[in-house]
Amino acid sequence: MKPFQYLRPKTIREAISMAAEDPDARYIAGGTNLIDLMKRGIVSPSKLIDINHLPLKKIEHKGDRIHIGALALNSEVAQNKLVTVRQPLLVKALLAGASGQLRNMATVGGNLLQRTRCSYFYDTALPCNKREPGSGCSAKEGINRTHAIFFYGNETPSCIAVHPSDMCVALAALDTAVVVTGPNGERRLMMKDLHRLSTAQPELDTYLAPGELITSIEVLDNVFDKHNHYLKVRDRASYAFALVSVAAALRMEEGKIWDARVALGGVAHKPWRYWAIELMLKGKEPSEALFREVADHELKSATASGQNAFKIKMTSNAIVAALKTAAGIS
Ligand SMILES: Cc1cc2nc3c(=O)[nH]c(=O)nc-3n(C[C@H](O)[C@H](O)[C@H](O)COP(=O)(O)OP(=O)(O)OC[C@H]3O[C@@H](n4cnc5c(N)ncnc54)[C@H](O)[C@@H]3O)c2cc1C
Ligand code: SF4
Repeated sequence: MKPFQYLRPKTIREAISMAAEDPDARYIAGGTNLIDLMKRGIVSPSKLIDINHLPLKKIEHKGDRIHIGALALNSEVAQNKLVTVRQPLLVKALLAGASGQLRNMATVGGNLLQRTRCSYFYDTALPCNKREPGSGCSAKEGINRTHAIFFYGNETPSCIAVHPSDMCVALAALDTAVVVTGPNGERRLMMKDLHRLSTAQPELDTYLAPGELITSIEVLDNVFDKHNHYLKVRDRASYAFALVSVAAALRMEEGKIWDARVALGGVAHKPWRYWAIELMLKGKEPSEALFREVADHELKSATASGQNAFKIKMTSNAIVAALKTAAGIS
């Protein structure tokens, strides 16, 4: 590991000005991803700006949304009464991620910005466009069973890796805003606008500007507290990233679906909100046949990126199973 300067700002303003002074500085929160990346020589920040002493831990309900501070721990969010009562889908996704010990360290901001788990990204001996732009993508001809099946338009992606977070899949389904502050002030991005698809700049995972600090997320109140499910398909029952995951939420009245949210994890360079499926479900009576029809119809746009053709059928099955559980159909 290369030497670095360790800084501990007391205010948000101080943290931002420290980051603005040096493009190679990095914020550190729980450190569960960043320290691994530093130990393996994948990132070598000149400065580590420890944000753990900033007042960004609060979880409160104001107006029509829950505000969750960027430093709230994944375990705290999953246990918080406001969240368990109002946003059970988020709780289910959080509890499907990592392990108890990791969730006790991992923060909301860090979870949003965790890097991909593509094994070539972590292997500095092999080419990787995300780690070293222009060097090539080892996964395309290598081991790619966990990689993406959804891409952007017809562009040939320079990176076929997937976003690894569980929390982000639920947040994508739930119309969440991400509040960030930087040298140019505060702004809000919706979850769909935070992460990038892999196009010309695979090294960039998000649309955050250099030095911007995530201060909180805002999860809008909704009517999905009764009918929701997070299904994670993975190689092991715990402590494994998703091969495919589905966050599904329905508003049902008088035997019909009046509103739906479907987002997928483990299938694209960003959490994949499935707007088309949501539209197809509205106004229909829930049934396995309907869920199969919408899932199969929409998965026609999926493409295997190598050895992972099995993920297309797996995704269809996972969507059907998640929607059935959300709808209460056995
Ligand atoms: C063995 C293992 C298994 C795991 N399994 C899963 C899993 O199944 N599902 C899952 O979703 N995750 C899983 N994770 C990932 C884990 O959830 C993330 O490592 C964690 O959420 C990162 O949070 P952190 O606070 O530790 O981030 P850090 O490591 O501190 O930071 C991560 C990145 O975010 C940046 N950052 C942090 N906070 C802010 C902020 N407020 N503003 C701007 N930038 C910020 C840092 O600069 C860094 O680039 C696993 C991790 C490990 C090690
Ligand atoms: S898929 Fe992306 S992260 Fe993996 S080797 Fe290719 S460029 Fe690197």
